[in-house]
Amino acid sequence: MSDALVDNLVRQLGPRGVLTGPEDRARFEQGWRYGQGIARCIARPASTAEVAATLRLCAEHGARVVPQGANTGLVAASTPDASGQMVVLSLERLNQTIELDAAARTVLVDGGVLLSQLNEALRPHGFWFPVDLGADPQIGGMVATNTGGTRLLRYGDVRHNLLGIEVVLGDGRVLSLLNRLRKNNTGLDAKHLFVGTTGVFGVVTRAVLQVAPRPRQRAVALVGCRDGETVLQLLSTLEQDLGDVLSAFEVMSENAMAAVFEHQPGLRRPFASLPRFAALVELGTTLPAESLDLGELLATRLGSFLDAAGDSIDVVMGNGDEFWQIRHHISESLQKSGKMLAFDVSVPRSRLPAFTREVEALLAREWPQVRLCDYGHWGDGGTHLNLLWDEAAIGRPAAEVVAALQPRIYEFAVQGHGGSYSAEHGIGPHNQRYYDLYTAPLVKQLAALLGQFCDPGDRLGTVRLG
Ligand SMILES: Cc1cc2nc3c(=O)[nH]c(=O)nc-3n(C[C@H](O)[C@H](O)[C@H](O)COP(=O)(O)OP(=O)(O)OC[C@H]3O[C@@H](n4cnc5c(N)ncnc54)[C@H](O)[C@@H]3O)c2cc1C
Repeated sequence: MSDALVDNLVRQLGPRGVLTGPEDRARFEQGWRYGQGIARCIARPASTAEVAATLRLCAEHGARVVPQGANTGLVAASTPDASGQMVVLSLERLNQTIELDAAARTVLVDGGVLLSQLNEALRPHGFWFPVDLGADPQIGGMVATNTGGTRLLRYGDVRHNLLGIEVVLGDGRVLSLLNRLRKNNTGLDAKHLFVGTTGVFGVVTRAVLQVAPRPRQRAVALVGCRDGETVLQLLSTLEQDLGDVLSAFEVMSENAMAAVFEHQPGLRRPFASLPRFAALVELGTTLPAESLDLGELLATRLGSFLDAAGDSIDVVMGNGDEFWQIRHHISESLQKSGKMLAFDVSVPRSRLPAFTREVEALLAREWPQVRLCDYGHWGDGGTHLNLLWDEAAIGRPAAEVVAALQPRIYEFAVQGHGGSYSAEHGIGPHNQRYYDLYTAPLVKQLAALLGQFCDPGDRLGTVRLG
């Protein structure tokens, strides 16, 4: 059946710029963890002007649009709904520009450039973009979700490293905010409206990022700890003594590690028996080994900690890549282990042990068959509290169990410990209810006003912030 919008889009973007067949659409319609829908078509503009033309055409036809980056988001925000009426606006062809200003230590980059592509381009110049994670997102998607990642402790999140952006608003107006300055206090810094707001105010087509010198050496250790308090003691000691070079502090629970070793037979088990928690500690520096031997520094410091902590810890020094592989395979291994209900929450990090214990106690009391497979960025107070149903043994989680469990855990985090129900994955249909519940009414009013200005037809995205 002919569709005037699709025909106009093909005229504007060319046949490569629009996908309509079910097989071509499939990878854009299914989210990484949550989210599945049906798209009217996939528009793939290759320039800012084409993004603007796409949004103008969609506005003329009253079509709703969901921007999509690499589709690695974890809250179902990058896929269309089930109506078959939404256009997916994929940025994957807007990926040519990577312009480094080495002396300024900044880079201008297209919104559809992948993180890996950016880092490959920066490598020969001795730089990298240090917002680092186990997925390979696009820069525009990273801005829209304000990606955190495993080295936030040292380098901050996307917001912290973002100097400027170019955005196309919902009706096709182009807002250029391509600031390249680190110091520029000249009123409203409007780029922040588009950071972490999941694309509902506009489509990010370009960004100016500050980049960091690539570390010349790293040293990594796994420290097995008996309980969460010992993990926090270790973190405080390392920050006090080695804060300048501490670049990551990630924590994996026994159950999360067990899933990795079950599904990744190639990975070596670093501990004879798995501890309750293992902290992955990484030091990084641009100094050469002749000036500072990081491996020796880490071994000495952890040795003193081991002496003081006695048998509550177990230190394994070794191949950093191997330890990071364990960490980065958790998500995938859990998916293979059963059906997962995932929580990306944060609390003040001093509360992490108590919070985790409360969740364990709740499960033991009311849902003993559900396994807690937690891991995450303890250095930033973030934890991925994944609940796992072993499908072969106990089947899938019933909808009423999910409906009962979700609000209890979010309540522990938000009301019990002053935490967040979405530490780093942003807002999407998966957690819209909790946005509605926990966001102050005045913030929602402000978001509604901004939405009227940025996206007058209220047609962008699958989330409501106002
Ligand atoms: C294995 C794995 C590990 C992960 N680890 C982390 C982690 O450590 N830390 C972390 O923060 N996240 C993590 N994530 C989540 C995810 O990778 C990030 O949220 C990422 O930033 C999403 O980028 P994307 O390009 O895939 O965006 P998508 O998933 O395509 O989209 C995400 C949201 O951004 C919007 N959007 C996408 N592109 C644009 C654009 N150009 N303009 C406007 N809006 C846009 C979409 O509409 C959607 O709302 C992980 C995901 C996976 C699968």
